[in-house]
Amino acid sequence: MKINIIGAGVAGLSAGCYLQINGFETTIFERHSTFGGLCTSWQRNGFTFESGFQWLLGSGKSNPFYQLWSELVDMASIRFVHHEVRMEIEVKENKDIFGDNVFHLYTNLDRLEKYLLSIASEDRTAITKLIRTMRRMQSFEIPPKIKSVPELLPWYQKISYIKYLPLLFFLNRIKRETNFTFAEKLKNPFLKEAFRLLFDGDEMPMLILTMPLAFSDLNGTGYPIGGSVGFVRNIEQNYIALGGKIRYHTEVENIIVEQNEAKGIRLITGEVIPSDITISAADWNFTVFTALEGKYVNKTILELHRQEKLKVYFSVFMVSMGVAGTFTDQPHFLRFPLTQPLVSPDDTRYERMEVHINNYDPTLAPEGKTVVSISYYTRNADFWINLRASNLKAYQAEKQRFSQMIITLAEAKLLGLKDKIEVVDIATPATFRRYTNNWKGSVQGWLPGKNIIAQSPVKSELPGLKGFYFIGHWSIPGGGLPVAIKSARDVAQMICKIKKVRFRIYQKGF
Ligand SMILES: Cc1cc2nc3c(=O)[nH]c(=O)nc-3n(C[C@H](O)[C@H](O)[C@H](O)COP(=O)(O)OP(=O)(O)OC[C@H]3O[C@@H](n4cnc5c(N)ncnc54)[C@H](O)[C@@H]3O)c2cc1C
Repeated sequence: MKINIIGAGVAGLSAGCYLQINGFETTIFERHSTFGGLCTSWQRNGFTFESGFQWLLGSGKSNPFYQLWSELVDMASIRFVHHEVRMEIEVKENKDIFGDNVFHLYTNLDRLEKYLLSIASEDRTAITKLIRTMRRMQSFEIPPKIKSVPELLPWYQKISYIKYLPLLFFLNRIKRETNFTFAEKLKNPFLKEAFRLLFDGDEMPMLILTMPLAFSDLNGTGYPIGGSVGFVRNIEQNYIALGGKIRYHTEVENIIVEQNEAKGIRLITGEVIPSDITISAADWNFTVFTALEGKYVNKTILELHRQEKLKVYFSVFMVSMGVAGTFTDQPHFLRFPLTQPLVSPDDTRYERMEVHINNYDPTLAPEGKTVVSISYYTRNADFWINLRASNLKAYQAEKQRFSQMIITLAEAKLLGLKDKIEVVDIATPATFRRYTNNWKGSVQGWLPGKNIIAQSPVKSELPGLKGFYFIGHWSIPGGGLPVAIKSARDVAQMICKIKKVRFRIYQKGF
């Protein structure tokens, strides 16, 4: 049974591993020269620049995702860094009672509670409730039954989901709380401002903060030393060891369909590769509307395409610098207000800057040096993508100009930065789009909607099309690596079920 997989990102490689283990003959087709997709890094003058990978959900045994990663990667062999502070936020208008204007978002809940109470005892009720909410979260299995695919379960097993009703009620109760509504409840002006600034001044569901923090407290969201490539290489090597084949520099043009059944793929070179099943682990928009010409859609898919149901996740403008120095006196993640707003050539306006100092991973830089990166989410990725396509010279000039503005503003905080810079690398939405083909340079698929716990409207199968599955970070709003592996594993199970193969996982060693 031959299976063609489009894309060697984390989703494509994971699907390949699971299917090889279960006796299928798979080939992955990747347009780029290497594996990893968005989860990647690149070398410049002895420095390794990360695409941005900061934390892996499931880095510790406390989190159910650890079980999935362990099926593909020897997790015990990876050293994870668990940050003590998730973010330091410099508050503009207020100071805490100690005269400090930096808010420390600790990842240890006891420490966080103590810290919050020490600066705002008048907000005891709200603070204790916040911490209690995260502790309650830790008592649940999230996500429930990670190894099951609900659609595949017989009715008598589906009944067992009843035991997760308290989790549903709990999430339902807290899902409407945002950082703004929470800030409203606070009396302390410093804390109020800090919570309003949690998401760069935007209003976001508190769950986006509380859930990862609850996991971080249990060491469930670490950063793997060696970064993206080191981590994903483990999956790629595993796939090859299992007999999987990867063809790099191989771009898929479309999926061949005969009588509403996917029969193979056609490469841009014209080469046709037949298969019994096709899996796309590539971009959702490319897959549905280019590779399949928009022929297998329904109302929901069309609404998604028009971004009426969900919006595409932001893309990123990122300046990475290799510097001669380690800045060990600075926090790893520092967010601070700018003296004047920064306006991007794409018209996005920023009031703050977030500096990431990667000195906790010595593998990224020669001794005594480190990588400093500054990223901005952009609201207008098309500007960069279109400019690059229409006028390469103007694009280069604009990205240089904007990155110089960013570096100058960063210098105000990291004194001496400019003189220490040895190499600068700039990634724009056009870069993310060019290297990974993600629609609008999206870095995590879809942005979560207002109802953050709603079922995903994206399905792995398309209406009216047989022999085809879609996986990857576009499968569930919010995306990220957990969605990539989970969607891959679910589809591998679905294929096993249809082909009457008992789904197995790797039994060798780890
Ligand atoms: C700056 C940044 C920071 C991030 N931080 C985190 C984090 O801390 N934690 C986290 O969990 N996630 C993070 N993410 C998100 C995470 O990296 C992605 O969600 C995840 O890697 C997506 O994996 P994927 O396999 O679904 O898709 P992709 O990585 O997009 O892989 C798709 C692959 O398909 C290939 N492809 C596309 N079209 C074709 C074609 N026509 N023919 C052949 N091949 C094709 C692409 O080249 C690519 O290799 C971050 C992303 C970025 C960019």
